[in-house]
This record gives sequence, structure tokens and C-alpha cells, in this order.
Amino acid sequence: MEIKQKIESLRAALRQHNYNYYVLDNATISDFEFDIKLKELQDLEAKHPEFYDASSPTLRVGGAITKNFETVVHEHRMYSLDNSYSKEDLEDWEKRIQKILGDAPVEFTCELKYDGASISLTYENGRLVRGVTRGDGFQGDDVTNNIKTIRSVPLQLNGDYPSKFDIRGEIVLPYEGFAKMNQERIEKGEEPYMNPRNTASGSLKLQDSALVAERPLDCLLYGMVGVNLGFESQFQMLERARYLGFKVPKAAKLCKTTDEVLQFIDHWDKHRHELPYETDGVVVKVNSIQHQEELGYTSKSPRWAMAYKFKAEQVSTVLNEITYQVGRTGAITPVANLEPVLLAGTTVKRASLHNADQIEKLDIREGDTVFVEKGGEIIPKIVGVDFTKRPIHSQPTIYIDHCPECSTPLERTEGDAKHYCPNEYGCPPQITGRIQHYISRKAMDIEGLGGETVELLFKVGLINNYADLYLLTKEQLIPLERMAEKSAENLVKGVAESVKIPFERVLFALGIRFVGETVAKKLAKAYKNIDALMIASVEELISVDEIGQRIAESVVSFFRNDINLEIISRLRRYGVQFEVSADKLEHQTNFLKGQTFVVSGVFENLSRDELKKLIEDNGGKVGSNISSKTSYLVAGDNMGPSKRTKAESLGVPIISESDFLNML
Ligand code: AMP
Ligand code: ZN
Repeated sequence: MEIKQKIESLRAALRQHNYNYYVLDNATISDFEFDIKLKELQDLEAKHPEFYDASSPTLRVGGAITKNFETVVHEHRMYSLDNSYSKEDLEDWEKRIQKILGDAPVEFTCELKYDGASISLTYENGRLVRGVTRGDGFQGDDVTNNIKTIRSVPLQLNGDYPSKFDIRGEIVLPYEGFAKMNQERIEKGEEPYMNPRNTASGSLKLQDSALVAERPLDCLLYGMVGVNLGFESQFQMLERARYLGFKVPKAAKLCKTTDEVLQFIDHWDKHRHELPYETDGVVVKVNSIQHQEELGYTSKSPRWAMAYKFKAEQVSTVLNEITYQVGRTGAITPVANLEPVLLAGTTVKRASLHNADQIEKLDIREGDTVFVEKGGEIIPKIVGVDFTKRPIHSQPTIYIDHCPECSTPLERTEGDAKHYCPNEYGCPPQITGRIQHYISRKAMDIEGLGGETVELLFKVGLINNYADLYLLTKEQLIPLERMAEKSAENLVKGVAESVKIPFERVLFALGIRFVGETVAKKLAKAYKNIDALMIASVEELISVDEIGQRIAESVVSFFRNDINLEIISRLRRYGVQFEVSADKLEHQTNFLKGQTFVVSGVFENLSRDELKKLIEDNGGKVGSNISSKTSYLVAGDNMGPSKRTKAESLGVPIISESDFLNML
């Protein structure tokens, strides 16, 4: 009984903290404290499966796999919205409404139109039971497991909620999280995602909910549907939804006149770029529910609502030429070279065309006059062709089938939108791209050498891979363009210095696909030197924390390649670090192997972090939470009494700082 209460109180506390953080944007405890509570709950739930609860906050971390997304019929249809593109259209609509409703004054609720993936959430007895995509409006896909990982979606409601209702909203990916995801992808050598909206809707259809949990998705809500929900207006409904714990953006405004509606639109047209997520317009809704019922629906959309679409800043210009870029990983990106044109304050000369499908879909050709837009993406995009201006002898674009740099036939794997040049070791931009990565700041950080110089050195035949850098001499460099004695000297010195760079960064610098900075650190820590890593099998690699199948396979295939092995053996000869340095290892033992410590309180000689580092350096594990698996609780001053009780009840030995140091 006591355990059950403990579990429930932890769940309630975590629910409240989640709400404070993700809905109110106002955290009251640190991430660290939050994690400790979460871990504690996870441990208790693991030990007591009899108290399983489909609404537990522990489900936020994901893990459930959906093999096939089941089709679910919406109990209440999900309608589309009519669009208007001008204020005149909107005013006409308001006049029509007024006419139908007679003399009664009509008020409007104005909301922002969030640009993401629509979702319908079903709640029964205060619990989220289902999350379904819009689909065709009549039926959609059951994506409940994935929805549960979105922190701002309440799994369990507070207050007096209706016993059953659906609530509609939009799943969005805020710009900041989107940019971060793309940064991480680029570091791993993967293609960045095109825009937040597609990424948000793609995320809902991932099979592994743990991957969804890693994405910073948010859920903004705007409409409750059901019977006897107890509100009389759209605006009241928003307030009610907010009160129940849903994230309902505060921008919504009750407008009494058409003028106020227009002011709302003007305001957000100017200020929408200050919002953390994408919006593409305003939705104007008749406020009174009774009025809404009188107005009803057309076959596609409610008569009581109208979307006003913001104009994306758009210009037209001539597409002079389509060229193709080859990236470090061999991915081909088609680029539109445009007649320079001013758009949203900057001169635009180039725009990405993304891939072959995109070109075909829009039927984009050289010589066309195209429409260029700056929307949510950072890079401008081509949204269409002005066919009235197409030159008479225009020819359809034939996508290249050979690499523009090395003439190798391109490859395209099924399900991948991109073409690739497979000539990894012979294709110039791939070769220079790898060297540029090797010298970059977060990798070997070679001073006195930049990206353009790498291209020059490659062009004149002085380097062909990153090992060649170490053979460069001052005499070879001085005759080169823009190379003075001093800069040549600096370059050679910079390269020589790089042998001091620690192993984990060398590992990152090698440019193994999917091995970004963090993964390189993990691998360095787990394997200590490259010889051990080279012979590791896929299975062994996967057993390392955070290393998945894809990374493991990539590592194994990298070390199976003779060219790579040859380069590594040369680097080794030149003195590059291929093992964790001796003084790092010196303090490391395996003395605490297999033991898990929980550290709590304040200590006399060491900081908490130093203590944890000592544990890890000696092969032990640091747990955040006491469980039956904990070997010792290292207790300092001011440790919470609940920790002590828990350790005692589980029979976990409690030791002091000096006990611990003696152990070592
Ligand atoms: P459309 O896709 O152009 O038919 O627009 C309808 C979609 O707009 C709906 O399915 C919603 O997902 C989305 N939407 C975004 N914000 C709102 C909002 N505040 N009110 C209603 N629908 C919205
Ligand atoms: Zn190539």
C-alpha cells in the first residue's frame, strides 16, 4: 500500500513539473531534481508492474514501438478551413455571416493558424486514450504511443473535466529545436531536414517512440468537441482547455468588431516572426457556439470559421542555370542559380531545389521565370513556375545521372530522396570535404589552414587525404598562390601541433559516418584505443551506451576498408593520438567494476562532480536513484531523509566520503 502511494505521489509531482515546464514555461525545480524523481519512479514501476498506468509520466521517454499505425475513424469529423487571401474576402465572409444570423451582434475569436500536423486527442475520464492524425478528415492513423512522448500533452487531466471529449490541435516543431536537430544531423554527415512542418508530421509516423521523444515537439490546442462540454463560446472553450492543462497559445483574442479582427491580423502579420514556431495565418471563428450551430458546415469546412493566410514574401525572377553540388558524404543537391533579386531584405542569388522529385513535381526548367519565397526555412525556396513566361523552346530538366565532379554514375537507394556519388575516395568534393572536416575546429582544430587552402592543396596535388597533411613542407607551400613564408610556416606548425589532440577528437575527425562528437566521446571512453575499436563487432558496439545499429554498422564498415586502415596506420606513424592519454588512464582502474553508486548531499573534500568522476574513472557506475541494484549510497551533509530511509529499507550500505576514499 505504501509503495502504491509513493508511486502515485511521484506521478503527481512529475505531472505538475511537466506542466510547469512545458505548458507554463515556468520551471520550479532543476532538471537534475526532475531526473532524480523520474528515475525513482521508473525503478519503482519496474519493480512493481502491478501498479502499471498508461498515463504515467515515465511513458514520456518513449520506447513503445508501433509496427503498423492502425486506422481509426474520427468520432467527430475533422474539417478543413476555408481560406481567404485578402481583407476584402474576409469582410465579405463576415457580411454573409451577419446576414444569416440576422441582427444579433456577432463576435469573433481570432487565433493564430499554427503550421504543423493536425491531431485529434481523445480523453476519457481525464486520461489521454488516443491520438489520431487528421488523415482525410474522416479517418486517420492512431499515433498514441508517439503522442505520449510530447511533454506538453497532458496524459492525465486535473480539475473537473468532461467525462469524454476530443480536443484538436497542431503538433509543431519550434524553430529552435528544429535548427538544433539539423545541426546534429549535419555533424553526423546526414542531410538536414527541409522544414519544421514536414519534420513534425514525419515524426508522428516514426515507429520507435523513443526517437520521437528525442524531438522537441510541441502541441498547441484550439478546439474541444463532444457533447455537453459546458461552454458557450469559442473563447470560453480556449480558457477551459487551458484550465484543464492544455497548451493553448495566449495570442487568441476576442474581437467585437470587424476592425478589431483586422487589427489582430495586421499585428500578427508584422510580429509572427517573433513567435517560437511557424504560423501561416490567422483563423477567425464566430465566437458564440449557438451561432456556430446555426451556421453549420459545408461539405468541407465550417461556415463559422475562416482562415486568413499571410502572404509569404514572394518575388519572381529568372532561373539562369541549375547546377549540382556534391557534399562530403557524396549527396547531390541541385541548386537554382537565379537572376539576383531582393527578397525580405536580402539579395537572393541561389535557392536549393532539394532533389530530383522536387524539380519534376514543379516542372522547373532553366530559363523559366520562377517564384521564390522565404517561408519558415532559412534558405529561400522556389515554389512554382510562371508558365506564362516560359520560353518557347524550353526543354524539360533532365536530372544528372553522373557525378558532376567525377563522372561516376550516381546511385539512389530506395526511399531516399537524394542521389549519391558512390566514388568516396576519388570524387574531389568528397575528398576535400573529409579533409576540411578533419581540420575543423571541433575536430583537429588545425590553425593556419582553412577550407579554401585545402582545395588549393588538393588541386595542385599536394594532398589527397588527411594523412598527407603531415608530409607538407614549407618549401612545397611557399610557391603557392597567396602563400607567404610566414603562412606556410604557420600551416606546417599547425599540422604538427595537431598530434596533441586527444583521441576522442581524433575519432570524430576521421569522419566516420554517423559518428558525431558525442558518439566519438562514448566510443573513446568505452574502447580506450583504436586497436580495440577496430576489432569490435556490431554486437559489441551496440552494447555501448547510446550506440545503435546504424552507428555500429558504419563503424565496422569504416574499419573494414583498406584505404582507411592505411591512412590510420600512417597517422599513427606521424604521432596522432590513437589512445586515451596515459595521464587520463593513470588514474583509471577497474576497481569498482560492476558497482553502482548513488551520491547525495554535500562533501568536505570533493565536489559532487569530482566524486562522480572518481567513481567512473575507476570503472564504477553512478546511478541517480537508489534501487535494489545500488551497491552503495555515498552520503554527505544535508542529504534528504527520504534517501536514507530508502537505502535502509532496501539494505543499501550508506558510506561517507572518507569511507569511499578508503575503498580506493
Ligand atoms: P487547411 O489545412 O488549410 O485546410 O487548414 C485547416 C487546418 O488548419 C486544420 O486542420 C488545423 O490543423 C490547422 N489549424 C492551425 N491552427 C488552427 C486554429 N487556430 N484553428 C483551427 N485550425 C487550425
Ligand atoms: Zn563524384
